[in-house]
Amino acid sequence: MNTLPDIEFSEELIRRFDKLGPRYTSYPTADRFNADFTEASYIRYLAQRNNPAATNPPLSIYVHLPFCESLCYFCGCNKIVTKDRTRTAEYLRYLAKEMALVAQHIGPDRRASQLHFGGGTPTFLTPDELRELMDMLRSHFHFLPDAELGIEIDPRTVNDDTMAMLAGLGFNRTSFGVQDFDPAVQQSVNRIQPYEMVEKAVTASRKSGFESINADLIYGLPKQSMASFDRTLDRVIELAPERIALYNYAHLPSRFRAQRLIVEAELPSAEERLQIFLMSVHRLLDAGYIYIGLDHFSKPEDELNKARIDKTLHRNFQGYTTRADCDLIGFGVSAIGKVGHSYSQSVRTLKAYYEHLDIDQLPVEKGYALTPDDVLRRQVIMELMCSGPVTFAAINAAHGIDFKSYFADELLQLKQYEEAGLIVVDEQRISVTPKGRMFVRASGMVFDKHLAQSTAKFSKLI
Ligand code: SF4
Repeated sequence: MNTLPDIEFSEELIRRFDKLGPRYTSYPTADRFNADFTEASYIRYLAQRNNPAATNPPLSIYVHLPFCESLCYFCGCNKIVTKDRTRTAEYLRYLAKEMALVAQHIGPDRRASQLHFGGGTPTFLTPDELRELMDMLRSHFHFLPDAELGIEIDPRTVNDDTMAMLAGLGFNRTSFGVQDFDPAVQQSVNRIQPYEMVEKAVTASRKSGFESINADLIYGLPKQSMASFDRTLDRVIELAPERIALYNYAHLPSRFRAQRLIVEAELPSAEERLQIFLMSVHRLLDAGYIYIGLDHFSKPEDELNKARIDKTLHRNFQGYTTRADCDLIGFGVSAIGKVGHSYSQSVRTLKAYYEHLDIDQLPVEKGYALTPDDVLRRQVIMELMCSGPVTFAAINAAHGIDFKSYFADELLQLKQYEEAGLIVVDEQRISVTPKGRMFVRASGMVFDKHLAQSTAKFSKLI
């Protein structure tokens, strides 16, 4: 057993409690979204913000930029692999149309405190196109002075000038897709990016004034071993990103076509994967990183860790965040939004996206309108995901219930986790113990009323 300041983890607990389950970037999870939620439903929720008496929270904006130059075999994102650079101009024209339509429904209060460009590869766009997109966004939304502007970076697509240009456009956060530095692993997933290339991009980000750099790592990739991933971690620790996300590769070739190109025989076994994970957690904690939750780590001075300590951590589609519950507006193919007590998702293909916008229709494919019970359960699950506590009095006051009788069955089900020392339930609250921080999904799942009907294929944490 390794005992660390505020997290304890052991192989035995992982073997016992690491279940298949949702990551709860939303509740209900996206597999519950359905076509009963239409464009008209989305417009109704957007219009609720257009109320002079309302004090709306500022917006969070997500823009999906789906184009990539080459295919990474592990990829599960909605992307379009193409060498044709002219396709982006058309996409931008439609994004402009979508933004204008949404802005019209939202009304005049369009303050935004967060922006995230994801993909795909956002830097597939030329500098001029990125500038055009930012101008477009700024013409419809008013970014607050302390807004977080983040962009996902494929290190193969940027140089010093790109990073300076992005900083000039106002971006202050970057997230680098690093995955693994081992040349054989990179070859087997068709993503060649030597350490020197990533190091150059990270240095350029720092020089350009980016406040926070995140590195995404993936374990469980083909040809990975303890020794090779140990070397990758050496180099990542050398780069010293403020945040690290350590994802488990979920091999689902029936769902993600790209993954059919992965040689299954080269994948590490479940046991090797567990050992790689345990070694990685040790190494990151020894290097001074703090465990934030699920698969996220940060430096102690990073805002995420401060929010964890202050109990002001939140969770949204991008993972853990310091920003309070914002309405999220998604633009582009397959983008997800969360407005009021609703979720919506746009159509996945360019063809469908363009067809909707050609007739001035918002490209909503599906969504979900939360019931009061969903809203209540969402709060409980999200508080658990952020390591609690779940305070009964606060929930009772917010939802007009008596927690202990409303959730009598769930409290009974939680006993197994309490007995294992993962949580403590007392008269006032459910607290997550240092031992339980890695298994918050398991206690969250107890409160998930939709799980029994879910057909989604969930992954394990490890
Ligand atoms: S991992 Fe990123 S760069 Fe690679 S194919 Fe997927 S979206 Fe594109």
